[in-house]
Amino acid sequence: MHRLFAQQIAKATDEGGSVDLQKLSSLIVSAYEEFDRDRRRTDRSMSLMIEELDAVQRNLEQTVIERTKALAAREAELQAQNLRIDAALSNMSQGLAMYDGDARLVICNQRFIAMYRYIPTDIHPGLPLRDLIRLRAENGTFSGNPDQYAENLRAKIQIGQATSQFVELPDGRTVAIARQPLPDGGWVATHEDVTERRQAEMKIAHMARHDALTDLPNRVLLRERLSEALVQVERGNQLAVLYLDLDLFKNVNDSLGHPTGDELLRLVAHRLRGCVKETDTISRVGGDEFFIIQTGVGNASDAERLARRIAEAIRAPYDLHGHHVVIEASIGIALAPADGNDANELLKNADMALYGAKADGRGAYRFFEADMDARMKERRALEVALRKAFENGEFELYYQPVLNLDRDEVRGCEALLRWHHPERGMVSPVEFIPVAEEIGLIVALGEWVIRKACQDAAQWPNDICVAVNLSPTQLASKGLLPAVLHALASSRLPPHRLELEITEAVLMQNSEATLHTLHQLRALGIRISMDDFGTGYSSLSYLRSFPFDKIKIDRCFIKGLGDGSESDAIVHAVAGLAERLGMTTTAEGVETKAQLDVVRNLGCTDVQGFYYSPPVPAGELAEILADKTGRKTAAA
Ligand code: C2E
Ligand code: MG
Ligand code: MG
Repeated sequence: MHRLFAQQIAKATDEGGSVDLQKLSSLIVSAYEEFDRDRRRTDRSMSLMIEELDAVQRNLEQTVIERTKALAAREAELQAQNLRIDAALSNMSQGLAMYDGDARLVICNQRFIAMYRYIPTDIHPGLPLRDLIRLRAENGTFSGNPDQYAENLRAKIQIGQATSQFVELPDGRTVAIARQPLPDGGWVATHEDVTERRQAEMKIAHMARHDALTDLPNRVLLRERLSEALVQVERGNQLAVLYLDLDLFKNVNDSLGHPTGDELLRLVAHRLRGCVKETDTISRVGGDEFFIIQTGVGNASDAERLARRIAEAIRAPYDLHGHHVVIEASIGIALAPADGNDANELLKNADMALYGAKADGRGAYRFFEADMDARMKERRALEVALRKAFENGEFELYYQPVLNLDRDEVRGCEALLRWHHPERGMVSPVEFIPVAEEIGLIVALGEWVIRKACQDAAQWPNDICVAVNLSPTQLASKGLLPAVLHALASSRLPPHRLELEITEAVLMQNSEATLHTLHQLRALGIRISMDDFGTGYSSLSYLRSFPFDKIKIDRCFIKGLGDGSESDAIVHAVAGLAERLGMTTTAEGVETKAQLDVVRNLGCTDVQGFYYSPPVPAGELAEILADKTGRKTAAA
C-alpha cells in the first residue's frame, strides 16, 4: 500500500479502529489537490527552464555565426594580404632573399632566382646559404670560394652589422646587395642589378674628368695627376710640365669649319699620345691647348727631347677630309722642383714659358725663366696697347720702292705697316703683327692696310703698283675677297696695280681653301707674290702649287752673297727657275751697290732694299720717286 494512503487511513481511523470514511475522502481530496498544485508548479518551472535554455541556445548560435563570419573575413584579409605580398615580391625589381638564424633560406622571390640564373626547382626553403652560393659558382655567376664567402657573411650578420656592397659578377654585371640582420639571427637581403646605373655613373664620372672631344684628361684630372706626381717630386724625383698651344689653329676652324677643326684636334691628341710614356699625362685644357706631365725626368734635356718630338709629330701634314693642313705647336716647359713644386705655380710658369715661346715665333719651345713674368706683363701690355692703337689711329703705312733692273726705274712699292706707340715710339711689325694675329686683330688691321694702300696708290703714276702683305689669318678669313673688292672699288685702283704678298706659311696652313681664294683674287687681275722665298722648308713644292707672278728672294740669301755660301747658286737657280715659269724675281734687302750688281748678274729682275730706299712715309714717296727715277709723280 502506498505510504501516503496508509498515513491517510491511519489519520481517518479512530481509536476504536474504525475508519471515518468522510474524513478519509477529504484527506484524499486534499492530497490530490496538493499534488495537482505541485505538478502545476513543476510544469511552470520546467517551461521556464526550457525557455531559458532556448534563449541561451539562440545566443550561442548567434555568437557562433558572428565568430564564423569574423573568421572568414580575417581569413579573406590574410589571403588578400598574402596575395599582395606575393605580388609585391614577384614584382620587385630587386631580388629578395630571407634567411633564418641557421643561414637557411626562408623565402626568396622570382627576381632573385632569375638574377643568379638559378633553376627554380633547385631553390626551396631550408636551403643553406652555402649551397646557394655553390649553385652560383656552378652556373658562372660567382667567382671565389663559396664556403669562405658564406662564412664571412654569417660572421658579419652575427655581429648585427647591416651591410651594403657592390659586387661585380663574372659576366660583367654589377649587383648592389644590402643585408639587414633580423632579431632571430637571420637576415633579409636585397639584390639590385645596377649595371646600367653604374655604367651611367661611371660615364658621368669619366665625363667630369675627361675632355669629350679627345677623351684626354681635362683640367680636373690634370690637377689630380699633377698633385700625385708632385708627391714623387718630394721624394727626390723630377718632372716636367709642357704647355702646348697650336699656332693659328683658329684659321683652320675659320676656313674649314669647326667639324674639321675638331678632327684636327683629335688627330693632334692621337699624335701626342704616341709621343709620351704610359705614365705621362696628356690633358686638353682648352680649344687648342694641351698640358703634358712628363714623369721620370732626369734633367732638362729629357723635357727638351720630348718637346722636340712633339713639335715634330705635330708638324707633319694632316689630311682632313681631303684637305691638306700643316700646323705647328708652341711649347712652354716648366720643371719641378726647379721652377716650383706646387701645381698652381708650375702650371703658371709653363704658361709663361709658352708665352715666351710664342713671342719667339711659331713652332718654338721655351723653358721657363725667372724674368718671364716681367716679359709676359710686357707682352700683355703690348696686346692692350695694340687694341687701343687701332682705335687711336696709331698706325701708318710706309712704302718701300721696288726698282726694276731692266729699266732702272721704280715699278712698284711695298706697303709696310708702322705703329707709332705713344710711349715706345716706332714698334716693328715683326714684333706686333704676330701679336695682332694672336689676338684676332689682324683681319681688321689687314683690311685697313689694303684700303689705305689702294687709296695711296691711286695717287701714284699709273704704272706704279702697290704690294700689300697678307698674313695667313687674313687668307683664312672669308672676308678677304670682299674687303679687296671694296678697297679697289672705293679707290678706283685698277686690280692689276695691286699685288698681294703671301709667305709659305700661308700655303702650309691649308692649301686647298687658300688656293681657291688666291685663284679668285688672281682672276680679278691682282698679282700674287711669294714673299720671303727660301725661308720655309719646302719652297719648291709651293711654287708648283700656284702660278705666282713674282718670287721675292729672302734677304738672308742676299746677305750671304759673295761669302762663299751657296747663296749665289741659290739666287741664280731661283731667278732662272722663275724666268722659266714666267715669274719675276725681286731680291729683298739689297743694301749695297755690290749686292745690286751681283743680283743683276744672277738674273733677278727687281731689287728692294736700303741701297735704293728704305721704307718711307707716304708723303715722302713722291719725292723719292721723282728724284731717283727723274720722273714726276702725281703726288709730287
Ligand atoms: P717683308 O714683307 O719681307 O718686308 C720687307 C722687310 O724688309 C721690311 O721690314 C723692310 O723694312 C725690310 N727691309 C727692306 N729693305 C731692307 C734692307 O735693305 N735691309 C734690311 N735689313 N731690311 C730691309 P719691316 O717693315 O720691318 O717689315 C717686316 C715684316 O713685317 C714684313 O716683311 C712683313 O712680313 C711684315 N709686315 C709689314 N707690314 C705688314 C702688313 O701690312 N701686313 C702684314 N701681314 N705683314 C706686314
Ligand atoms: Mg713683303
Ligand atoms: Mg719679304
